[in-house]
Amino acid sequence: APRFFVGGNWKMNGTLSSGKELISTLTGAKLDPNTEVVIAPPALHLLGAQQALQGSKIALAGQNAYHKASGAFTGEISVSQLQDASIPWVILGHSERRTLFHESDADVAEKTAAALSSNLSVILCVGETLEQREANESINVVVRQLDAVLSKVPQDWSKIVVAYEPVWAIGTGKVATPEQAEEVHAAIYKWAGEKLPKGQAEDLRVIYGGSVAAKNCKELANKPSIHGFLVGGASLKPEFVDIVNAKL
Ligand code: 13P
Repeated sequence: APRFFVGGNWKMNGTLSSGKELISTLTGAKLDPNTEVVIAPPALHLLGAQQALQGSKIALAGQNAYHKASGAFTGEISVSQLQDASIPWVILGHSERRTLFHESDADVAEKTAAALSSNLSVILCVGETLEQREANESINVVVRQLDAVLSKVPQDWSKIVVAYEPVWAIGTGKVATPEQAEEVHAAIYKWAGEKLPKGQAEDLRVIYGGSVAAKNCKELANKPSIHGFLVGGASLKPEFVDIVNAKL
């Protein structure tokens, strides 16, 4: 089975000192050695976090990046700048980027292709809104989002982790039931089996995000198609350790 993966998306939260404190909680904790752990502090905090994480197996991710290498793009950081700073991961297509900052499927596809060419690994977020779920469109939406990326990344998905994050579950306390998540994860694996080059579906990790907490993570982690989590709010608390250790 693919290695269990837990990401912590800190979003636009914290100070230099609260971030350091959180990292020292994580580096001081007993983390399941079989779980891959990646945290995504705000861009301004990445290099400080990198120092604080020296000697730790916890890796870092940017929360977003722009596909162009450099140029007149005020306010953006590029995938190649993340690579240059030895930040190995980037989150792309988060619903907050798609909704609040108007990133289209095509934008996310372009960014993913650029990130992979810069040798980054990508946490690719997909997921439906409540309206789309109620219209029975969840799987269609997710497949459309994945197809867009596949059109720009036809060959190698080995450095992509797909995060299924239903928008209605993000920051709402309304976690998807294990059955709801499993249904979409299974559909993503079906898609991968049909569309990705041979052998890649088996190794693909599909993780769940949306109100994951210590109290609900074990039940979710027991589902056969859930290979980890992308955690928002709870990644800012010591509780994140329990989520990393969901399989223990
Ligand atoms: P919450 O865990 O706060 O619901 O956020 C999930 C998320 O968006 C992670 O990227």
